[in-house]
Amino acid sequence: MTKITITIFVFLFGIIFGSFFACIGYRIPNKISIVKPNSFCPHCKKSLKWYMNIPLFSYIFLKGKCAYCHKKISPMYFIIELLTGILFMASYIYFGLSKEFFTSLVLISALSVTIVSDFKYYYISDRVIFISSFLLVIINYIYLGYKETLELIASALIMLILLYLVKLLGDKIFKRESLGGGDIKLMLVIGLSLGLIDGITSLIISSSLALISSLITLKNNKERIVPFGPFLLIGTIIMYILKYNGIGVL
Ligand SMILES: [Zn+2]
Repeated sequence: MTKITITIFVFLFGIIFGSFFACIGYRIPNKISIVKPNSFCPHCKKSLKWYMNIPLFSYIFLKGKCAYCHKKISPMYFIIELLTGILFMASYIYFGLSKEFFTSLVLISALSVTIVSDFKYYYISDRVIFISSFLLVIINYIYLGYKETLELIASALIMLILLYLVKLLGDKIFKRESLGGGDIKLMLVIGLSLGLIDGITSLIISSSLALISSLITLKNNKERIVPFGPFLLIGTIIMYILKYNGIGVL
């Protein structure tokens, strides 16, 4: 296969997975089984026919409306499908078939699900964190061997403990929940992809992004909760690219 064929294939793969990620990002916080009911309209609950469920195309052909009740379908699905497709494709073009490619697929996937679940429902799924961590351990083991993998697992656990301590301190100072459990558990994913020092550096990037975004949206955000999960993963991906280009600390 030529590089262009693989690139197109990776894009298609990305939009299909993106569709699945948007679906589980919606279903897990709403406690709907991931496998059991077929895709359905959230308004009229009618199940969708296969041709109403084709990533990107169905949304365009149905003009963003349900084919039965004609109510608007959230553009979030379309955006996540497109975003996942583009990011999958970009990481193949950038990294080629390498450890970095597979690691970034895991990070992008976790990001796609978390954008939906955390922005819409302030929820980060344990299952998503643990499946991502498990895949990262396997990728690290295949490409780096067991010694470096053990070091990365140790880094991840240290980050988890550190952030838990930061949370305890933050809760005391602000007298409210400063960091969610999901944010802390995400340290596993960050530590396993970046190691300890670059992992902690990535937190500076993530916090800056979250701060900028909360300053922009603060006026409209009455609950004053900032979903931190997506920013943590975006910071991780940025740091991962910096590290790949030799800008990382270690
Ligand atoms: Zn409907």
